[in-house]
Amino acid sequence: MKPVAIIGAGITGLTAAFYLKRKGIPVTVYEASGRVGGVIQSLRQDGYLAEFGPNTLLETSPKIGQLVRDAGLQSRRLDPDPKAEARYVVRYQRPIAMPGSPLGFLTTKLFTAGAKLAVLREPFMPRRRDGVEESIAQFVVRRLNQEFLDHAIDALVAGIYAGDPHQLSLTHAFPKLKALEDNYGSLIKGQIFGAGARKRSGEVAKDRAPKFSFDEGLQILPDTLAARLGDAVKLNTTVTKLTQTADGWVLTLSEGRVPRAPEIGDSQISPLRNKTQAEHSAVIYCGTAFRLGELQVSLIGAPNSDSAQFTTADTPNRSSALQSRLDLSPFSEIRYPPVASVVLGFRREDVAHPCEGFGMLIPKIEGFKILGTIFSSSLFPNRAPAGHLTLTSYIGGERYPELALLPAEKLVALVCEDLRVLLGVTGKPAFQHCVLYPKAIPQYNVGYGRYRGLMTEIESKAAGLFFAGHYRDGVSLGDTIVSGVNIVERVEKHLKITNGRE
Ligand SMILES: Cc1cc2nc3c(=O)[nH]c(=O)nc-3n(C[C@H](O)[C@H](O)[C@H](O)COP(=O)(O)OP(=O)(O)OC[C@H]3O[C@@H](n4cnc5c(N)ncnc54)[C@H](O)[C@@H]3O)c2cc1C
Repeated sequence: MKPVAIIGAGITGLTAAFYLKRKGIPVTVYEASGRVGGVIQSLRQDGYLAEFGPNTLLETSPKIGQLVRDAGLQSRRLDPDPKAEARYVVRYQRPIAMPGSPLGFLTTKLFTAGAKLAVLREPFMPRRRDGVEESIAQFVVRRLNQEFLDHAIDALVAGIYAGDPHQLSLTHAFPKLKALEDNYGSLIKGQIFGAGARKRSGEVAKDRAPKFSFDEGLQILPDTLAARLGDAVKLNTTVTKLTQTADGWVLTLSEGRVPRAPEIGDSQISPLRNKTQAEHSAVIYCGTAFRLGELQVSLIGAPNSDSAQFTTADTPNRSSALQSRLDLSPFSEIRYPPVASVVLGFRREDVAHPCEGFGMLIPKIEGFKILGTIFSSSLFPNRAPAGHLTLTSYIGGERYPELALLPAEKLVALVCEDLRVLLGVTGKPAFQHCVLYPKAIPQYNVGYGRYRGLMTEIESKAAGLFFAGHYRDGVSLGDTIVSGVNIVERVEKHLKITNGRE
């Protein structure tokens, strides 16, 4: 059997490849950069462990823990210190702990009496029935109030998407919130009455899901999956073209480095060269939406005039059937704002705040430059040398995209200034490392359904071509693992059908 091609060795592609291989289906994983893991990047240096991309993995589905066990990583899994549950949101220029109970909510200084009243009123607010797609900002103001948007949701949105709440779609970026209103008429009623349904499905809400990492950081997971795949993973290999044939797909490959995220100590992009071709039974695209927009795809058969994404540029293929070219350029429109991760180590005595907890989120209205800070060394052990702590801050996103592009020394200065005010940080950092993600996280903005619809339409017309990953099934690491697991079943079904025909 010809192998299934998997484009992209981020966590989605590696998860899909790992499970296909376990089912006895041969795979080849093509990765444009010189390393596996995509945006996941952990660095152990000078006694610090720095995570530049994701810091924690939320166990929202049983499939996530299963992957950890199947990869043989259970003994290396690290659950956070129970003391690190506290999350802070900045208000009145200082971090205030988010309430963890209804009584805590009634007494917190994070919200005024008006916002507390809005929560008590929420179950009685009418649900929206006109079918108009809302932004998360419109939804929150409609069901709660402006203060919730400005002082809570804005910060949350920065923490998940580095995004703009006025642009992000309720339907696509926060589907579970939408479902609560649709199914229960209220967020609060949904939280209470939906608990049974969630339990039965095995799914866990993001705010309650256990979070974890590994002893040497999240990079362990893609590294282990890649090691299990062995030579099936081809690094420094960019897929530039897909051509459908009578019995599968031919991929055009170029050697050269086109990293998804600049690699630590090596952000050079070298030109692509050495075009070669490889034959495959099916293709799973697990790359990024912005690179998908550049991919050339030719299908067997006449162009379908109903469909906007087919061009009329017909070319004969290897079996001399008529080929139609897919126009994937709409995917290049998907916004991926830049984010810089700034990991700083400080001497414990140089930081006034106890920094016990997960970290702090910062709403725009508070006027700081950073989007938020994770108290990395409180969360997990061995992330800083004795007597030191590690703070991971993020700059940029839709809020201040231009700031993410500043040189490292300016980024460190901006972060230190905000941390001075917020956490009472006085000394100079004992450790510093910045990584820029020029295109970090896709924004599921209002209208995102167009792109999802296009993917579904292409899959239905281009038999054997599948899409999975952060640009389709949710941006969290957990979402991408579930996406990688789920695509395996669909590919397997396709192979059974095509092999049955042969
Ligand atoms: C700064 C940052 C912080 C984050 N923090 C968290 C967090 O704390 N918790 C959480 O749950 N999630 C977090 N996320 C999100 C999560 O990490 C990502 O959504 C997830 O890792 C994406 O995985 P992926 O495999 O879908 O894509 P990617 O990691 O982007 O991998 C795609 C791979 O495809 C390759 N590729 C693309 N095109 C081609 C081609 N044509 N040929 C060959 N290879 C190609 C790329 O080089 C890349 O390696 C964060 C993301 C970022 C950027």
